[in-house]
Amino acid sequence: MRPTLSWTPTEDLLPGTTSLAPVADALSAGGVLVLSGAGISTESGIPDYRGEGGSLSRHTPMTYQEFTADALARRRYWARSHLGWRTFGRARPNAGHGAVAAFGRHGLLAGVITQNVDGLHQSAGSEGVVELHGSLERVVCLSCGAFSPRRELARRLEEANAGFEPVAAGINPDGDADLTDEQVGDFQVVPCDVCGGTLKPDVVFFGEAVPPQRVERCRELVRQAASLLVLGSSLTVMSGLRFVRQAAQAGKPVLIVNRDPTRGDRHAVTRVALPLGAALTTVAGRLDIPDDLVDGQVAG
Ligand SMILES: [Zn+2]
Repeated sequence: MRPTLSWTPTEDLLPGTTSLAPVADALSAGGVLVLSGAGISTESGIPDYRGEGGSLSRHTPMTYQEFTADALARRRYWARSHLGWRTFGRARPNAGHGAVAAFGRHGLLAGVITQNVDGLHQSAGSEGVVELHGSLERVVCLSCGAFSPRRELARRLEEANAGFEPVAAGINPDGDADLTDEQVGDFQVVPCDVCGGTLKPDVVFFGEAVPPQRVERCRELVRQAASLLVLGSSLTVMSGLRFVRQAAQAGKPVLIVNRDPTRGDRHAVTRVALPLGAALTTVAGRLDIPDDLVDGQVAG
């Protein structure tokens, strides 16, 4: 579930450090499970909900309940999401994604779990990424369960909405743009082309549970890992925090790289408060991973 939207740090948190030594040590020992959040994609131009200027200050993400119950809410969602898709389609992986892919190629990782729906780890070359909250690349029909590529839906929406060119106030990490009701106007949604049912992006909405098989896959990755490295997540929602707790309870070191305090700090051996791209590039350098392997732009 992702219902907890408001959380303010309490006093029993780790102070942030700038020392990368524990992170480099964990990686050189191998078996590191990466858990990444929106903070790793901000350097690719996709803002965090909760960071400075985060979009939660502008609007609350749509819940699963709203989406399924209200046709007008769905129309609003798809108008925003269709516009946001153009931005996501242009986003490129950054040095942080590139470093994670390089760690994987060098055999240092037990796996990558991401809370992001932007596909940028895969674009940078990471393999076997578990997308905890799904992916914007796919669409699912709520009636017949058919999956289809998002780019196909984007083409159908373009056709149904010729001339829809509003200028959005901003973009959110879940891939929707900020639009006023006036800008949404008479945007037309399109139905499932198999059964005529309601289409939803294959992402876990706020108020919706992560599929149990996916949670179990992640739990298994934690069991197999030597340590857990959290990159760019405030761990505000339980869907990610539970793996931090699992690792800590199993006595596995939890290391966090995040600018701000996180809800997992009490379980961590360190929290590095540095920008991710620079921090991970520095770590890669200390591990003698060649520079060409940590260029996040290679997949562009
Ligand atoms: Zn269908």
